[in-house]
Amino acid sequence: MKKRCNLVVIGAGASGMMAAISAASAGLDGIMILEHNDRVGKKLLSTGNGRCNITNIDPDPEYYGSSLFINEVLSGFSVDDTMNFFEDLGLMLSVEDQGRVYPRCSQASAVLDILRFACDRYGIDIICSVKIQSIDKRDGYYSIRFNGIGVETRSVIIACGGKAAPFTGSDGSINPLLERMNYSFAPQTPALVPFAADPALTKTLKGVRVKGDVLLVKGKNNVIARESGEIQFNEGSISGVCVMQLSARVAGDDDLCLAIRLFPELSRQQIFDRLKAKREQMAKAGIADYLIGFVNKKLGIQIIKRSLNEKLNRHCGDLDDNELGKIADMLFEMRIPVRGLCGFDKAQVTSGGLLTAQFDRRTLMSIKDNGLFACGEILDVHGLCGGYNLQWAWSSGYVAGSSAARFVLHNGRGFNQRMAKWGSER
Ligand SMILES: Cc1cc2nc3c(=O)[nH]c(=O)nc-3n(C[C@H](O)[C@H](O)[C@H](O)COP(=O)(O)OP(=O)(O)OC[C@H]3O[C@@H](n4cnc5c(N)ncnc54)[C@H](O)[C@@H]3O)c2cc1C
Repeated sequence: MKKRCNLVVIGAGASGMMAAISAASAGLDGIMILEHNDRVGKKLLSTGNGRCNITNIDPDPEYYGSSLFINEVLSGFSVDDTMNFFEDLGLMLSVEDQGRVYPRCSQASAVLDILRFACDRYGIDIICSVKIQSIDKRDGYYSIRFNGIGVETRSVIIACGGKAAPFTGSDGSINPLLERMNYSFAPQTPALVPFAADPALTKTLKGVRVKGDVLLVKGKNNVIARESGEIQFNEGSISGVCVMQLSARVAGDDDLCLAIRLFPELSRQQIFDRLKAKREQMAKAGIADYLIGFVNKKLGIQIIKRSLNEKLNRHCGDLDDNELGKIADMLFEMRIPVRGLCGFDKAQVTSGGLLTAQFDRRTLMSIKDNGLFACGEILDVHGLCGGYNLQWAWSSGYVAGSSAARFVLHNGRGFNQRMAKWGSER
């Protein structure tokens, strides 16, 4: 005999768990989450460098490329609602630089645990290690087959994420099933992603982090965009929040470079004058040590090597003004040619996804399939770094979950009219 339930949420990430909890807190029972990993919320654990930048107190739909759809969903469950939701569940929060909100204990695992505890309290049935084989709609029910088992449900929420960081579970494996149901996707590409760079150039800098301005330059001098913050060197790539924000400005361009300004507050002449004074102080030291105190040691060596194009077996006192000028040029602006962007493996989010026009912006219910909802990154929505993508997961998860509960509790009857009224009252 087939198992019956009221709501099946596919995907136990941020948006899926939020959707299930919201549906339960709206009074729905018989909720099941199906997750294909062997555990829930794997991606959440790696968010915010293990600290989980849960949201941002400076909400602006512009950071998502504003649309009526996005604005409506974000206002359906605001940043204040998100902070109250987590505080009510017992997660203390703290607001840090640039309005970023983190758990007070600085542990992403605490966010996941708090969500898991809530699912437990509401009696939400979580089944891991599933392989979804089919989703069929018949007689007002959705029939979902997984691992050779069938479940019938009144409503279903698709919360499978995009394709970013596929090792966390979001691998696009649900897409063919949705395409079979005639859902369309905007092409999915990696977003908020590091730039690929020559490994020979970045190898010795692996792990180095510096602060400064970074400009995305096309050709010789066409500055496409500029950001400031921490820049991180890895073998074969350059990352950091400010660099990944720039990735959104790359549209299949080649001939790109990153111009890094380590001292944006100083003119080239001021840098040169400081180098001159340092040459006197360091006259007897080897040139490999010349930039110690100015920049990270590994980076200093690379700057000397690249600007003088020679071995390091001389003393600082031997450097002439012309050579100091070359070092000053590079300290003022160091250019690193880039080879496009890294792939989904290194991306934080996905650009593209399920076309939003297929869903009602007030409820996130499918326009053509009553009872089917979608939320989170699988939708064609993504935002800037800084807590905005998780906020989208919370907001859309809440809207989909609470709407699915209303849909089932009202037996689907008059749902659209009721939602229209509800939407206009909000
Ligand atoms: C390294 C990293 C750091 C990040 N840091 C931040 C941050 O600090 N702040 C921020 O705002 N955003 C951050 N993001 C982005 C943010 O994590 C995502 O936007 C958000 O988690 C998306 O939530 P989601 O529920 O839509 O998808 P996901 O969290 O990806 O969850 C989808 C779930 O569905 C499951 N699933 C997929 N396909 C199937 C299937 N066929 N069957 C069953 N289950 C399936 C997956 O296993 C997964 O558990 C970060 C992303 C990465 C990769």
